[in-house]
Amino acid sequence: MTLSGGRICPDCGSDRVDFVQRGLAGPINATDQYYRCHACGRVTYEIVTRTSRELRAGRIEPGRVIRTAGHSYSVRRILKIGLDEYLVYLRPAEDPFPRLRRQGQGQER
Ligand SMILES: [Zn+2]
Repeated sequence: MTLSGGRICPDCGSDRVDFVQRGLAGPINATDQYYRCHACGRVTYEIVTRTSRELRAGRIEPGRVIRTAGHSYSVRRILKIGLDEYLVYLRPAEDPFPRLRRQGQGQER
């Protein structure tokens, strides 16, 4: 049973991922939204929760590239949800599918 919702691992391109949606009842209290790849084990974050201090310290702003848990992400948008709580929407910023390079994205530098 997969609930990938069309999600694909940015590392290996596998669609065998477990998706954990933020805020749904689960074994751990989920403040982040992410999916984990069965093929390579990578965890890819989609939404993380930060305080305003963390936003400032990490210079997290829309359009910037940040590193979270060892991977690069570009910040899509930031949503304030509490007194001092922000949802940071992320998109993987690395080369898509480094092992399947031939899908030329035309962005080689
Ligand atoms: Zn993978």
